[in-house]
Amino acid sequence: MTSRLSPYQAFIALGSSIGSLLEKKLMIEGAIRLLQSVGQVRYTSAFYLNYPVGGVAENRFLNGALVLATALKPHQLLCELLNFEAKLGRVRQVPNEDRLIDLDILFVLHQSKTELKPLQIKTEHLIVPHGKLTERAFMWWPFIEVLAPLSTITPLGHEAQLMLDQLTQEAGAHALADQDCWYQKVVRVSHG
Ligand code: ADP
Ligand code: MG
Repeated sequence: MTSRLSPYQAFIALGSSIGSLLEKKLMIEGAIRLLQSVGQVRYTSAFYLNYPVGGVAENRFLNGALVLATALKPHQLLCELLNFEAKLGRVRQVPNEDRLIDLDILFVLHQSKTELKPLQIKTEHLIVPHGKLTERAFMWWPFIEVLAPLSTITPLGHEAQLMLDQLTQEAGAHALADQDCWYQKVVRVSHG
């Protein structure tokens, strides 16, 4: 449930590609613990091993998503995500390289008086919905997985429905056709 104290439902993608599968899983669990310090983790997807996409990364990625109910505005949340990445040891060198942890904002809903409305943000530092959400199966499928339980419990509202229909159409041309990137569904990661 959203509340007046946590009016945002932020869909966050988590990814890790350095170390053993166990180390990646521990990294994701560490990130989830940090996220719990800025909101309530409501739903988590399963986590999946994927081949790297579009860059210099060579390792398999462990990817999934969750919904965080939070009071933080999207820019404040992004700031925290970058802090958490640094805290967990991430150092940026080149784009799309292997990384200990990646925390991206996929989509944000805001609770108005009666319904959940989607946010649309385009600034230098933050784009929401995430620019690659519908292109990358490793983002799209976990997103859909956590959207399903949320939308059965909380009315999404007309605007959100419209935006999701449009995103689904886009995904049909990209991520939905990209199922080959799924390598292996991995155990559910715990969030306490
Ligand atoms: P990527 O996630 O694309 O592999 P990085 O994690 O290095 O790359 O992020 C680079 C920058 O992307 C961040 O510093 C942030 O300012 C910007 N960015 C823009 N939109 C988003 C978003 N929705 N979620 C996370 N970062 C974003
Ligand atoms: Mg990122």
